[in-house]
Amino acid sequence: MPLPTFRTLANGLLCSLLPPVCQICADPGERGHELCGACSLTLPWHSDGCARCALPLHEDADALCFRCEESPPPLDACWASLRYEDPVSGLLLRYKFHSDLAAGRLMANLMALNPPPWALAPLVAVPLHPSRLRQRGYDQAAELARLIGAPRWKGLRRIRATAPQSERNADARRHNLDGAFGVVGEVPQAVVLVDDVMTTGSTLHACAEALRKAGCQQVNAWVCARVP
Ligand SMILES: [Zn+2]
Ligand SMILES: [Zn+2]
Repeated sequence: MPLPTFRTLANGLLCSLLPPVCQICADPGERGHELCGACSLTLPWHSDGCARCALPLHEDADALCFRCEESPPPLDACWASLRYEDPVSGLLLRYKFHSDLAAGRLMANLMALNPPPWALAPLVAVPLHPSRLRQRGYDQAAELARLIGAPRWKGLRRIRATAPQSERNADARRHNLDGAFGVVGEVPQAVVLVDDVMTTGSTLHACAEALRKAGCQQVNAWVCARVP
């Protein structure tokens, strides 16, 4: 693991000394959170998604979308705490691409405020390839899983570097991930995959397939934000 930068250490120290400030508008935070009352009212909470892919349905919480009915995905259940809309999309971009770890801390807090309706098995973060981790200096999904504070299992590895998914269509995304994930050690019976953003789900599905191949019986996923 890379050492924390001076900025990270300084931020951590300042956070423990200063009252919390809203991560969106910089007003004072409310009740000890890094979010003010006005901004917290703008959050796109998500609760009415398909039970297996979290796609917004505007129906029953237990319902499945057409696609999951037709061909069930390798995830048994999927929960998104938020929708990938303003201001969540901006916070996640700051967290993922601009080393804004305070935004990541807020996102983990928001995930914990809207947790999945099912029991939590050990959390398994969608891993970064070591070369990407070296570039970025931190692993955004692993940080979210750590900050949520539930038990974790760390045996899922990215064994092959892949091109960024954001530049590909759905079909290319699936093939891009063939053989990208592997498992080290004995896999638990049930796990909950954790990631920051879910778009088509191809990354989570590739992880779920690797975990199932290694003997995992139940693979659920919990993401911070679902692209509608
Ligand atoms: Zn605010
Ligand atoms: Zn679905």
